[in-house]
Amino acid sequence: MKIGVIGSGYVGLVTGICLASLGFKVCIIDSNKSKINKLRKAKVPFFEPRLEDILHTVLKKNKITFSTSMRTMISKSDVIFICVGTPQGRSGKPNLLYINQVKKELSKHIALQKVKRNITIFIKSTVPPKTTKSFQDYFLKKNINNVHFASNPEFLREGSAVHDFFNPDRIIIGSNSPHIKQVAFKIYKKIISKRKIVFTSSQSSEVIKYAANAFLATKISFINEVSRLTEVVNADILEVSNGIGLDKRIGKNFLNAGIGYGGSCFPKDTLALSAEYRSNHIFSPLINAVIKINETQKKELLSKIFSVFTKQELSTKSVLFLGSAFKPYTDDIRDSIGIFILQELSPIIKDIKVYEPIAYKTSMQALKNYKNIHFLKDLKSISYECFHFIVIATEYDTFSNLKISDLKRLKDCMVFDGRNIMSKSLLENNGIKYFGVGR
Ligand code: NAD
Repeated sequence: MKIGVIGSGYVGLVTGICLASLGFKVCIIDSNKSKINKLRKAKVPFFEPRLEDILHTVLKKNKITFSTSMRTMISKSDVIFICVGTPQGRSGKPNLLYINQVKKELSKHIALQKVKRNITIFIKSTVPPKTTKSFQDYFLKKNINNVHFASNPEFLREGSAVHDFFNPDRIIIGSNSPHIKQVAFKIYKKIISKRKIVFTSSQSSEVIKYAANAFLATKISFINEVSRLTEVVNADILEVSNGIGLDKRIGKNFLNAGIGYGGSCFPKDTLALSAEYRSNHIFSPLINAVIKINETQKKELLSKIFSVFTKQELSTKSVLFLGSAFKPYTDDIRDSIGIFILQELSPIIKDIKVYEPIAYKTSMQALKNYKNIHFLKDLKSISYECFHFIVIATEYDTFSNLKISDLKRLKDCMVFDGRNIMSKSLLENNGIKYFGVGR
């Protein structure tokens, strides 16, 4: 079975390279020529642990090719995964420009090449309910009857995407066609037991993806809301999260209070879900509250800084800022709260030095117009006495292990910890002022 992948971003590249490592012949296409050129030279255009090593192996084994040509990819594929972006569009709706372009190009080339064999197309991009059905209808209207669509939403997490590909909790296939079931089993049987491949209608599958992300975002907004109470009643949100999370019905994951959720999925998918309710003339108070809480939460650390210093004082301060990626071990900074805070602080602070171990290039590019923000190569050679205070925006382990003796050298002896990764009591017992979230 030969596989085509459209889009060489986080989802497409992980899917294509990992499927090639399972022995399938894979052709990945992207409209971005420079990405394809890099991939041909065995370079992954973004940071994702383990991905480049597997790419080297599958290139050596001739299991993978890269192209910018839809025609070439179709001629080589029995199964195609659509993995193009569906970024946030107007009024929260997803922008379906790229996926609609793909729909048109696919139908044009399949008709031109007079393809007669069956082709199965899995939509991995996150799309509103009924998109898969509308794609199938579009092809049928053009009298293309040998192309079968299914929704196949992706649940990988950037930073552990390769692990997630090989160890999925479940695979959702939005189709009840016996032919597609066979194809799905053939592809996924190598990584998951049959009973964990769940078949649904395409609409249910599309809703599952939005609902799953919205549920996780809800857990985050919920614990952030609780953190506002723990702060005023002198409770500690870490103790509360632990106490709630030990209940197996609730679980510990996604119960860490902080500066809110960011990244390329949760913000846009919660907005898209809310927009989907509106388009169907229903209202979702819950999803809207989750979004609103997150909007407030991302300003949480800024409010704390402003409660300690006046704007005039801040204009004389130098800050050591730790982490700008939306989470550790990714260089994706789409909707990163760290970047948001840096943009807000820059006009009022004297200067900011940022240390970001993974996403430094993408962050530097995003902040190139902020002249008082500079990036550090490492933390080894820095003089802590040059800084007034520290802000932590990403939960890298290394940041939680900063030496007390170094922190004591900060001019204001102060840490603003947006991810609650430092020990409040240890810092306070050593005379360092600590500002966490909900503690
Ligand atoms: P991305 O922006 O990283 O990559 C998309 C790629 O598609 C880009 O390289 C772009 O050049 C390419 N592209 C756009 N139009 C094209 C066309 N007509 N032909 C060929 N290539 C084209 O996106 P991503 O983060 O991989 O996300 C893809 C989809 O998967 C989105 O719908 C997203 O919501 C969903 N998703 C993402 C993640 C994640 O963690 N990134 C997780 C689950 C689901």
